[in-house]
Amino acid sequence: MIRELGEAKKNLQRNGFLDVDIDVNLDLFAEIERLKKEKNAIVLAHYYQEPDIQDVADYIGDSLGLSQQAAKTDADIIVFAGVHFMAETAKILSPQKKVLLPDLKAGCSLADSAPPELFKKFREKYPDHIVISYINCSAGIKALSDIICTSSNAQKIIESVPADQPIIFAPDRNLGSYLAKKTGRDMVLWNGVCMVHEIFSLEKITRLKVRHPKAKVIAHPECEAAVLEIADFIGSTTGLLKFTQRDDAREYIVVTETGILHQMEKANPQKTFIPAPPNNACACNDCPHMKLNTLEKLYLCMEYEEPEITMEEELRLAAKKPIDRMLEISAQYGL
Ligand code: SF4
Repeated sequence: MIRELGEAKKNLQRNGFLDVDIDVNLDLFAEIERLKKEKNAIVLAHYYQEPDIQDVADYIGDSLGLSQQAAKTDADIIVFAGVHFMAETAKILSPQKKVLLPDLKAGCSLADSAPPELFKKFREKYPDHIVISYINCSAGIKALSDIICTSSNAQKIIESVPADQPIIFAPDRNLGSYLAKKTGRDMVLWNGVCMVHEIFSLEKITRLKVRHPKAKVIAHPECEAAVLEIADFIGSTTGLLKFTQRDDAREYIVVTETGILHQMEKANPQKTFIPAPPNNACACNDCPHMKLNTLEKLYLCMEYEEPEITMEEELRLAAKKPIDRMLEISAQYGL
């Protein structure tokens, strides 16, 4: 039985190597609900989490929505079913709360593509530029930034900066070049990419489109420019979901992580959603980092209250400033 776990197994859990036997008769959904009540805990889940986790979450959203929820919740424990930088953001915004991440190894290729020590040197080359960073970055990068943005609010955030103020955009070069086109701003871009959005195959999407001529292609702006050029609609994960609810097409080719299909299908049971294929035979349009979290790990981390996200106060305060700026601008524009 799970409550008899020894210290050694707890350490395995802490490191994300869960080979712990869970009683197969345990109703994990009911157990998670019980733990939420007993511990005054809230479960926040990103759209890219597996369907079971989305179904047990108190709030499902993209980076902006999740950070706003993390800032305003009065729960004692935030269980963040997402990746490390997201749980870090929750800790930055709610330092007095315990923030748990079901698997500490749930990282992000995009966040990892911008090591703070290299980015600091890069920034020093452009002393008159301000830094706008996409929220998919580490606390170290946030601390070196002036304003954080998400894919939902990035355009408005860039437009809120005076036209004569030069900008560095980090860490996603695809999102950066998409935004440079949208806003007409000539931004200096950090050369980072998301391994999931980088891998979609233009050729396979085009072939899919021939087989489904009425399907609309909807894509996340982290995708490469060539894929975005053939998209009928480009938007954040929430933006894509909302588009499918107001648009009248019956079929969509969805060019982003497949986790969002669960909410799209729930919201539009009469419509068909086809995941866009990657440029190889594996399921690379599943984010391997996001998918490290499982319902079992979620249950265990709530039961044992670890792995916990902790942070030096100096770093937290420095990383919080540009997030606060983002939340202020978002509130100003009603984003
Ligand atoms: S989908 Fe891309 S940006 Fe999002 S967590 Fe996975 S690797 Fe990072």
